[in-house]
Amino acid sequence: MTPVIALVGRPNVGKSTLFNRLTRTRDALVADFPGLTRDRKYGNGMLGGKAYTVIDTGGISGDEDGIDAAMAEQSLAAIDEADIVLFLVDARAGLNVADQAIANHLRVNQKKTWLVVNKTDGLDEDSATAEFWELGLGEPRPIAAAHGRNVTTLIDEVLAPFPERDESIPADTGTKGIRIGVIGRPNVGKSTLVNRLLGEERVVVFDEAGTTRDAIEIPFERRGKPYVLVDTAGVRRRKNVHEIAEKFSIIKTLEAIKECHVAIMVLDARSGLVEQDLHLLDYVLTTGRALVLAVNKWDGLESEAKEKMRAEIKRRLGFADYADLHFISALHGTGVGDLYPSLERAFASANAHWSTNRLTSILQDAVESHQPPLVRGRRIKLRMAHQGGSNPPIIVVHGNQTGSLPEAYRRYLTNTFRKVLKVRGTPMRFEFRSGS
Ligand code: GDP
Ligand code: GDP
Repeated sequence: MTPVIALVGRPNVGKSTLFNRLTRTRDALVADFPGLTRDRKYGNGMLGGKAYTVIDTGGISGDEDGIDAAMAEQSLAAIDEADIVLFLVDARAGLNVADQAIANHLRVNQKKTWLVVNKTDGLDEDSATAEFWELGLGEPRPIAAAHGRNVTTLIDEVLAPFPERDESIPADTGTKGIRIGVIGRPNVGKSTLVNRLLGEERVVVFDEAGTTRDAIEIPFERRGKPYVLVDTAGVRRRKNVHEIAEKFSIIKTLEAIKECHVAIMVLDARSGLVEQDLHLLDYVLTTGRALVLAVNKWDGLESEAKEKMRAEIKRRLGFADYADLHFISALHGTGVGDLYPSLERAFASANAHWSTNRLTSILQDAVESHQPPLVRGRRIKLRMAHQGGSNPPIIVVHGNQTGSLPEAYRRYLTNTFRKVLKVRGTPMRFEFRSGS
């Protein structure tokens, strides 16, 4: 698994500043699930070929009461989820009783903890860190998060015990088949769906289920085709509904999204859409992962409730309309088999390759039936298109003055490409370049 770094410390010591710096790399993604985790913020970063996840917490004041107690709870939960704790203190404010209280928390914790003295810009490092030895957490490490001073060196050292590894999932599935991840908030029916997917007739589940890539992988075969179910959250093992549902873990959800080729996101028709669903979906969209949406618990719903759910989806999930939408009952198996063609199509779309000729000809047809507008008397020219990447597909459009293309025209083009190429189930990215 990717190492998880939690940032803890009193409010105002510079945690958010450090978080932003650590997640600002090219691969950075910020997953902010406010409704779900209150103050915890998750982001990914990359340094020297090593990926990591950072959790920013609301902060511990050391004098927990009221709102601070809630924040401390968040910090403690983040520490639980983390492999490494960076405990930040403030060189300018100096050692504080609250720091002492937090240090006491951290000393009893088994997690690898680094004492980080922030805001040392313009200060002598040795004298700025001297008083913090007293915390008994080892050598205080001076940084200036706002200026990046010593930050890379520190993170390099923090990540040293973790092996460098390729985090990307190959598009070539070899003989193993598409990797499917099932995600969603608690109680929407993930576990029921997973067991249904694996328990269906004609499905052969192989015994060799193992932990090949750290995630639990369950290879199976359906109608002669191989698939792999990626079960980072361990939903498969939870056979008994009376078992207490595992606490929803964002880390595990992030892993599931990273480890699969296509994610099935489960929504609950009985509880309707909630903020958590939207945040999760937004995150999947940002990662560019192929996606199939399954609205579960569709069984026995009154038609009025069905209409309400459909309307809600239409109104609030417009941004995810690239994904196939299924109404299913994991409990009874209704509609579950229909997920497979969508999974196949999403995977194929995400990894498709199109020739420059084909893309350019689609572009020219689109331009012919609907000309780009004039800009200062000159017509914007769009000349050719080529593929700049896949999973998600990137289409690069070359022309003149493309920077002046109105949003509506860009949308027209992107919709046209999507339709003609029959792309479903994956986001698509478009880049417009101007040249001579
Ligand atoms: P948080 O409450 O722990 O998340 O702290 P913030 O990241 O919001 O930072 C609190 C204040 O400290 C802000 O005004 C930052 O600009 C400032 N700050 C953060 N890092 C540094 C630093 O390295 N040097 C200095 N001088 N100020 C910093
Ligand atoms: P998870 O936390 O997302 O893994 O959710 P579970 O699979 O444990 O399901 C939560 C509850 O919803 C259980 O009581 C299930 O029996 C119930 N459930 C799951 N799928 C369906 C469905 O299709 N229809 C109905 N009516 N209930 C379902």
